[in-house]
Amino acid sequence: MKFSFVSLFPNLIQFYFEDSILARARKKNLFKLAFFNPRDFTANSHCKVDDYKIGGGSGLLMQVEPLYNTLNFIQCNEHNPHFIFLTPNGKLFNQKDAKRLSKKDHIVFVCGRYEGIDERVVEIFANEVFSIGDFVLTGGELPALTLCDAILRNVDGVLGNADSLKEESFEDDLLEAPSFSKPFIFEKKIKYYTPSEFLKGNHAKIAGLKTTLAFCKTKFFRPDLFLEHERKK
Ligand code: SAM
Repeated sequence: MKFSFVSLFPNLIQFYFEDSILARARKKNLFKLAFFNPRDFTANSHCKVDDYKIGGGSGLLMQVEPLYNTLNFIQCNEHNPHFIFLTPNGKLFNQKDAKRLSKKDHIVFVCGRYEGIDERVVEIFANEVFSIGDFVLTGGELPALTLCDAILRNVDGVLGNADSLKEESFEDDLLEAPSFSKPFIFEKKIKYYTPSEFLKGNHAKIAGLKTTLAFCKTKFFRPDLFLEHERKK
């Protein structure tokens, strides 16, 4: 699988793949990375990539031509690109998207900057348009990394233990049950216990308790998700 990032600031992205799980997966050749900077696709001598908005409005926009040239180059030269634009006005990204997209050959993330991207480029190239939440960031690099990380977790071989995916939040529209590590009693001013059932080794009971806790947690923190879970029963 391949991920390409179209960004004016590729350095903000590269470091994320130099450590931990994703660095190991990259070493194993489970995925490849590429970076395309619209600044390298400008026709003007100053490599200008921003401009004023037509019709007024505050702030600058990413200029249409450098971005168009970059994406056109990718479309003509790269294998099977699937263009994903990051913008606060996109569909909210979720775990189902992460799983589905983990089957693609080549995902191209288009990261906006300034006040965003000329809408015509979105119209021409976008296969999908995603937001990561109802807030505004300065650029699309963090959203692109967020999607890329979530997608990669679902690529075979990336996680050391693929079973961890089965118990994770959003499986079956539930949040994961609370988890605990050793010691059983964590003593500060007061004693913090883990549920004693977790220590008794009765796996059926532990599974039952975890399901109950997952239900409670989902109902409390994400009633919308819980309704979805109930609807599908
Ligand atoms: N003027 C735009 C608006 O109001 O919708 C916001 C532009 S934002 C300052 C610059 C870039 O950051 C966007 O083009 C997009 O790529 C990225 N971005 C910011 N917030 C985002 C979010 N919640 N989800 C996805 N991308 C986001």
